[in-house]
Amino acid sequence: MKKVSEALGIVLEFSGKLGSETVSMDAALGRVLAEDIRANRDLPPFDVSAMDGFAVRSADLPGTLLIVEDIKAGDIPKIALEAGQCSRIMTGAALPKGADAVIRVEDAKQISADTVQMDIKTRPGHDVRLRGESMKTGDTVLNTGTEITPGAIGILATVKAKSFRVFRRPTVAILSTGNELESIDDPVDPCKIPDSNSHALMAQVQALGMTPRMLGIARDDPIELERHLRLGLESDVLLVSGGTSVGLHDYVRPTMEKLGIDMKFWRVSMKPGHPLAFGVLERSEGSRTLVFGLPGNPVSSMVCFEQFVAPSMRSMTGNTRPYHRTVTARLGQPIAMKPGRTEFVRVTLASDEQGYLAVPTGTQSSGVLLSMARADGLMVLPAECSGLPAGARVTVQLLDGTAFQDATGYIE
Ligand code: AMP
Ligand code: MG
Repeated sequence: MKKVSEALGIVLEFSGKLGSETVSMDAALGRVLAEDIRANRDLPPFDVSAMDGFAVRSADLPGTLLIVEDIKAGDIPKIALEAGQCSRIMTGAALPKGADAVIRVEDAKQISADTVQMDIKTRPGHDVRLRGESMKTGDTVLNTGTEITPGAIGILATVKAKSFRVFRRPTVAILSTGNELESIDDPVDPCKIPDSNSHALMAQVQALGMTPRMLGIARDDPIELERHLRLGLESDVLLVSGGTSVGLHDYVRPTMEKLGIDMKFWRVSMKPGHPLAFGVLERSEGSRTLVFGLPGNPVSSMVCFEQFVAPSMRSMTGNTRPYHRTVTARLGQPIAMKPGRTEFVRVTLASDEQGYLAVPTGTQSSGVLLSMARADGLMVLPAECSGLPAGARVTVQLLDGTAFQDATGYIE
């Protein structure tokens, strides 16, 4: 039986970056750069005003100055300032020669059509944006491994990178297994269990910006299972839920082995999610399928996805922040726990003047999916913990699909 961090370490060992491909900017949000991006010019291209006001020679202030020119953004200044002169200037406009500072309109008093009085002192560089302050030609402005956010798109547009290299995203297939399962398209049968795992997993994959291939439901039958698994093995990642435990009809692990999948582990010391299986099929040079045998219990399946599949898939895309962001919170109510396994308790988070308060979302049975649907995060309780009083400090992984960091939240 593996500790959570050991199991994750094994998964990540096989989750190396995939190759790269070129994408155009309009399809790049959420992708990860596979090349360094450099500045193609100095920005600003010359010293510009940071304010609407007057371009001055700082040595002339305080004083009354003659206005010799009006400079708008985009204009090329024509008149170099001499002692006692200034130019009216707009934000973003180039400073005229001789000027070394800008005085805001609010700090100047116009006393005639072409004279202005400034009673304050200033210093060279005041309210001036210097040439190259934002970027200098040749500077690396975005590094390989950077996730493309709206801010990064702004930078790419600034350097006119209309298309660029990003890491390929893994292809993912999803399969549910179990004789008791009823597909979403079947009429309600009182003797069956609705297949929620396929769809919750689909959404978890989508939250990572990817579109899974849905393989439906395989019965607990080795032949049917083998047929479905073969289809899934064409993808980079195959998620199979159910049938990984030790039940008489749990055929998933033996069928995986039969198909040549090298099983790396199949039990993890965690709650929920204990019967998690992980295997690797090397398909050809440099191409493999990672197979996750997720527990059938709906909460376990989702928690295992967040702990193992999400970091694995983010690592494959070259993202250097594969783990859920964590926050420290106070526990809102006492909690009982049997020591032995790392527990992931579904909690809501509220905040007050003392920080975050974490409150469990009702019953924590691994079959009760509402506990997950209501959760803001997963509270990580260390394996040796035998319960905590209200007010105890706890670590909570945020389930927000945009909040990731470069460290795990495990304490083991
Ligand atoms: P298993 O891992 O196959 O032993 O299943 C454990 C529990 O999870 C059983 O109660 C199953 O009915 C339930 N279960 C398995 N697969 C799914 C699924 N796709 N959707 C909802 N519940 C499931
Ligand atoms: Mg089953």
